[in-house]
Amino acid sequence: MISGKNIKEVLVTGGNGFIGSHFISQSCKKFSSINFLNVDNLSYAASPNTQNYLNQFKNYNFCNIDITNAEKLKEIFSKKHFDLVVHFAAESHVDNSISSPIEFINTNIIGTYNILQCLVDNTNNGKNTLYHHISTDEVFGSLNLNEDSFTELSNFSPSSPYSASKACSDLLVEAWGKTFGIDYLITNCSNNFGPRQYLEKLIPKTIMKIISNEKIPVYGNGTNIRDWLYVDDHIEAIFSLYEENRFINERFNIGGGHEISNIEIIQAIVKILDEEYGYKESQDLIEFVEDRKGHDFRYSINSSKIEKVTGWKANENFAEQLKITIDWYINNQDWWNN
Ligand code: NAD
Repeated sequence: MISGKNIKEVLVTGGNGFIGSHFISQSCKKFSSINFLNVDNLSYAASPNTQNYLNQFKNYNFCNIDITNAEKLKEIFSKKHFDLVVHFAAESHVDNSISSPIEFINTNIIGTYNILQCLVDNTNNGKNTLYHHISTDEVFGSLNLNEDSFTELSNFSPSSPYSASKACSDLLVEAWGKTFGIDYLITNCSNNFGPRQYLEKLIPKTIMKIISNEKIPVYGNGTNIRDWLYVDDHIEAIFSLYEENRFINERFNIGGGHEISNIEIIQAIVKILDEEYGYKESQDLIEFVEDRKGHDFRYSINSSKIEKVTGWKANENFAEQLKITIDWYINNQDWWNN
């Protein structure tokens, strides 16, 4: 990891969440001589089962801290020098940001600010520490069918309190880079899917609604398009950026290269569950509901920058990845229930 640099200590925030837990488990296996400290406040989006799963790794440690608590964060940074800080922690669900925006302002903006200040105060203005900011394609807003995919140079045009809070945090990072000399990396990825994602998100929600024989709510007419990135592909993309210590103060888009409408993905899940798992007429559970406020129509990611510089490319077996994901939820139905 980050060849040419002697990486010993890595701080991960939000490691109990969906993407962060995959990053930690894969990192702990791949880089057994590196220590990973996870800072997470164990919010509703963190399952105790995920914590138990991560505890198996000898090079893993956990600290229950809320990143809005600047003093607690300072203590962590004053005790140890981190060579790499990977910031996943966030309030991540758009619907919640509409019903209760303040948590998004606090965690996504103030929380990021607190981490940046720790880098300035405790690590020689962030020098000798690479700060990796995990962000979203939603900062770029919405596209029509005929518009080109988002590049790293696309303008920010967030629609929801969630995407606005993420855009704001991206800008803080760039400013802290220019003003205080923080070494940073920003990645903007598309919709992730895979095992261990909390049930509020489209794919797990659809699977679990079918399993429980409950209505599957679909916003508007279901034609909104998302680009889907399998979580393992995302982690591989992140690792590819660390392989050489040459990507400093840059932004990279990471997409799965698989655009599909919400209703099409729901129908694909219905088909798999009915044909391969014995569920019946799950199509009848689909229920169109009032559209989400400010609902972006289409996200589309141009990943050519990362593909060109690292050689990384998302796998093209979306159907297989979806099956693996469904299979995981079928076999781990109590992951979130307790
Ligand atoms: P998640 O909601 O599954 O996990 C977030 C984690 O952060 C949880 O473990 C939670 O307990 C922790 N957390 C929340 N608030 C905290 C706080 N104040 N202090 C400490 N910990 C806190 O999210 P995810 O889907 O794994 O997303 C990870 C990152 O990736 C986020 O920054 C998100 O914006 C970004 N992202 C996610 C997606 C996606 O499709 N899931 C897409 C693009 C970008």
